[in-house]
Amino acid sequence: MTAVQASKIHPLYDALQAIVGDERVSDSPVIVSAYSKDACHLTAERPGVVVMPNSLEEVQAIVNLCRETKSPLVPAGGRNGICGACLPRVKNAVMLDMVNMDRIVKIDEDVMTVTVEAGLRWAELIHRLDEKGYKLGFRGPYGGNVGTVGGSTSINSIGYAASKFGPSTEGVVSLEVVLSSGEVIRTGTGWNMGAKLFARYSTYNDLTGLFLGDSGTLGVKTKVTLKIYPKAEHIVYGDFGFKTLEESTAAFLEVQKRGLTEELNLLADRQSTDTFFPGFLDRHKEINSMFASIVQETDEQLAARKMEIVREIALKHGGKDLGNFASQMHWSEMFNLVQPLYNNGFWLNTCHLRPITSIPELMKRCWKIFEKYRLLNNGIKWIASCLGADRAYATGWVTLFVPERSKMDLGLKAWNEMLDAIIDTGGCPYWNGLLWENRALKQTNPAFLETYRAIKKALDPDNILAPEVFTGVE
Ligand SMILES: Cc1cc2nc3c(=O)[nH]c(=O)nc-3n(C[C@H](O)[C@H](O)[C@H](O)COP(=O)(O)OP(=O)(O)OC[C@H]3O[C@@H](n4cnc5c(N)ncnc54)[C@H](O)[C@@H]3O)c2cc1C
Repeated sequence: MTAVQASKIHPLYDALQAIVGDERVSDSPVIVSAYSKDACHLTAERPGVVVMPNSLEEVQAIVNLCRETKSPLVPAGGRNGICGACLPRVKNAVMLDMVNMDRIVKIDEDVMTVTVEAGLRWAELIHRLDEKGYKLGFRGPYGGNVGTVGGSTSINSIGYAASKFGPSTEGVVSLEVVLSSGEVIRTGTGWNMGAKLFARYSTYNDLTGLFLGDSGTLGVKTKVTLKIYPKAEHIVYGDFGFKTLEESTAAFLEVQKRGLTEELNLLADRQSTDTFFPGFLDRHKEINSMFASIVQETDEQLAARKMEIVREIALKHGGKDLGNFASQMHWSEMFNLVQPLYNNGFWLNTCHLRPITSIPELMKRCWKIFEKYRLLNNGIKWIASCLGADRAYATGWVTLFVPERSKMDLGLKAWNEMLDAIIDTGGCPYWNGLLWENRALKQTNPAFLETYRAIKKALDPDNILAPEVFTGVE
């Protein structure tokens, strides 16, 4: 941050510099402007100053300073969210950039966990575990080159291998969190200062869950302990095409219910496959929807048998074997797969969770919207993709790609109708952020919200942590 001169006018500049030194704090307009966006088009307030702690003690000192001066503090990871979650809602906030805290603290082979600092990026973690013969369950969001473990678990991210292991939050065993009081809490078996971090549910209620998905409003995560598994060398891929979305959904649900795959991805219509893998369906004129399946096991025969079962299920539902190009590409290009989609233009995403059975209903609504706004005639492509998660739900990833600014108004109109359709058809966002907050709040049970607010008040009485988040977006 020192390449650009700090302005040194933020009221906390000197005090922050005293904590972290010259090089890891800046209030230069260039720096704060760079920190005023994440990876989507939504905007909020610019931070007043950015600070990069290197240690738990520095985080505590910064939190104490903010509490004593009643200054807003917003934690940030890779700022790779696509919902505006890490953007300050109030002016002059201190932005706490966690990416310098990226060490692997411990791989505990006895209890099969890895403890990492919260600013570590998923791609790096996977690589380092692979070298030691281990893998994670949930591997990271598709943007895992940049997204951090702390950021993802703070917004319920979902992505690679969620079909087998569930979302990012399911893999968490324990958290180390700095509270607004400056005190540190360790959850799971971490309550016992002499115990290993090996289980999430133990002795008391689940305090880990309190901080997962909190969008940084209840504490700053400094360490995350995740489950690890033996590396599984045997991977089998399979792509299956269907004439109708109803057929592909039925097969997708059956495969997902039976827990056969590491990753299971459905592309809901022909246009989605054409956007993702241009030309792939050219030789399959009758195919309108497809899924890509990846089986990964420690045993070769087990992997092969599981893929045979996936194939049997697909064929039973009228599917056609399309080979394995899409699924291989999907898995081997992990974290690099979706970036090239930016070539299609700005992303307007609608990422959310939904029962697999409700995919056709959503798509009927979306197709009407695509037609109403004549999206393809206007050069706006889409991908409607669903990733199987847990036993019977999916993440709906219906994204519009707006090729140029002049088409943005049109794209935004269609997108807003899609967001309404998603909520109307029983969808539940996994992130919140500027993208979803107003729509989510309208549907939220008042008692649920009051409970959250009471917890927030108890943990953060001066309301310094990510203030105004979960209160509505202007
Ligand atoms: C190409 C691309 C693909 C993507 N694919 C996916 C995908 O498949 N699935 C998915 O879920 N997302 C996806 N995303 C969005 C993004 O990558 C993820 O949501 C990611 O997990 C965000 O992590 P981050 O570190 O960038 O968090 P940030 O955006 O920096 O922050 C997210 C939230 O977490 C809070 N926070 C950050 N660090 C901490 C901390 N240490 N303590 C407390 N609170 C904290 C912030 O205040 C904010 O509320 C994608 C983005 C891109 C650009």
